[in-house]
Amino acid sequence: MVSYQELLEILACPRCKGALTLADKSLVEELRPQWREKMTGGSSAGSARPGQLEAGFVCVTCRLFYAVVDGIPDLVLDDALALPPPAMET
Ligand SMILES: [Zn+2]
Repeated sequence: MVSYQELLEILACPRCKGALTLADKSLVEELRPQWREKMTGGSSAGSARPGQLEAGFVCVTCRLFYAVVDGIPDLVLDDALALPPPAMET
């Protein structure tokens, strides 16, 4: 079983070829509905099973979120989600 941390060392952002970071759990939860809609949006009658969104990889340069589904990183640029604007710290 390869850990996400190990995957992060070998994977790169498909757009800028930069390093990816592991998304916060809270970010994964925040983007889950958006991701699900994107994955099921084009199909009819909700028959598509998008799998289980387990984690996410983030490119801070592109501000993109790449889903990790059933343990497999989805680094397809078309599947990536744009990150929400950063929350105010104070
Ligand atoms: Zn990038």
